Amino acid sequence: MREGAAADAREWSEHEVQALWFAGGFGKNFTTSDGRAISVVQFGVWNREAGPDFAEAAVSLDGGAAQRGSIELDMEAADWERHGHATNDDYDGVVLHVFTQRGPREFFTRTSQHRSVPQVQLDLRAIEEPPNAQPDAKPGRCVAPLRALPLEKVREVLLGAAQFRMKRKSAALARLAELHGPDESLYQALATTLGYKANKLPFTLLAQRLPLKLLRAAKDSATALLFGVAGFLDQRELAPFDSPTRAFLRGLWEQWWPRRAEFGRLALPRELWKMSGQRPMNHPQRRLAALAQIVRHWPHIRALRDGCVPEATTEFFNGLRDEYWEHHYTVTSKPSASRMALVGESRVTEMLANVFFPIAISHDAAGSARWEEFTKLAAPLTNRRTETAALRLFGDSPPDAKFLRSAAIQQGLLQIYEDFCQRDASDCEQCLFPSQLAKW
Ligand code: SF4
Repeated sequence: MREGAAADAREWSEHEVQALWFAGGFGKNFTTSDGRAISVVQFGVWNREAGPDFAEAAVSLDGGAAQRGSIELDMEAADWERHGHATNDDYDGVVLHVFTQRGPREFFTRTSQHRSVPQVQLDLRAIEEPPNAQPDAKPGRCVAPLRALPLEKVREVLLGAAQFRMKRKSAALARLAELHGPDESLYQALATTLGYKANKLPFTLLAQRLPLKLLRAAKDSATALLFGVAGFLDQRELAPFDSPTRAFLRGLWEQWWPRRAEFGRLALPRELWKMSGQRPMNHPQRRLAALAQIVRHWPHIRALRDGCVPEATTEFFNGLRDEYWEHHYTVTSKPSASRMALVGESRVTEMLANVFFPIAISHDAAGSARWEEFTKLAAPLTNRRTETAALRLFGDSPPDAKFLRSAAIQQGLLQIYEDFCQRDASDCEQCLFPSQLAKW
């Protein structure tokens, strides 16, 4: 730690400093601003969504046990306060705050729970060249043993993990069905899948607070109830919106306002929704419109569950029509000239992998035939966690191009990632997965 780095820091962008940090360019042993020794045990993964810069990192203070958590890197210490991190619970898990300039006043990093976060100031003066672009995560210790296995064995390992995951999903859905019945549980599970990943909780709460039975009885008002209870209809001023949006919102408001006394107390607080860091196609308002369509076409959804045929499911969701959402990402975005599917290919695959197949496999006497069908389900590699898991396990050379474009292989990767990578705080050193592979 050195004072006086301010003059040099101006020549660097925050992204350059972050990339150099992640590449280990500043080392891994530091002294905190209050004089304690701190080591970065693992640098974690780049977080491309809302929240701290690096997730799944681990640090050790004064030689103590590694603590898992996130790392936030700012150019100036007080950016923590300026950017609202001190009151944002996304930052409650930060275990280290790194910055390049201390600023004119002493600054203590605190979370919304008033926990003090260790601070480290970086010295940019010793660094000559900004680094090249870095990957989102580092390959782990299991890359070599996985590479040494024949491809069929690697596939076996991943499918074994995927089958374990499928059994857990089937059991969870069966429990839900016991509590709420087969239709309500299916509706709740689909809502949760639409909320994945940042808005799982508000979508689950919405489906619990506005049951399928109630929405089906509400007929044409179902969309207005969903948007009203979601808290998306609290703005009465229509002037800032384009004409299709004004017409769309006016229609919803006319149905929502007479019922808000009845349902207003169920409305979700705005802060429950994560709007930033989302791809426009995944905006929760679009996903909510998709949930409204699912309710509207319920008999068809029930038939899709009973049949569990991927082609029929894809065809149904591709054919969904919504005049407004086909040309708007959100209510505040400019209209798009080209048509956008309300539910894209990757979302349909998520529904198949997380809801339709787990239900079908648990119900079907021919469960093993269903499992075989599932292993043939192709899936685009669009999920950031799966990409990170692939990078950690296979480095920059996965077995072959087609290998990862499989829903079952991706589910297996996620299971291993959750069971091993997300529990590891030793930078792979104490992870048992490589030794388990050796016994395979
Ligand atoms: S933590 Fe384990 S499974 Fe994850 S990358 Fe490291 S060695 Fe592989």
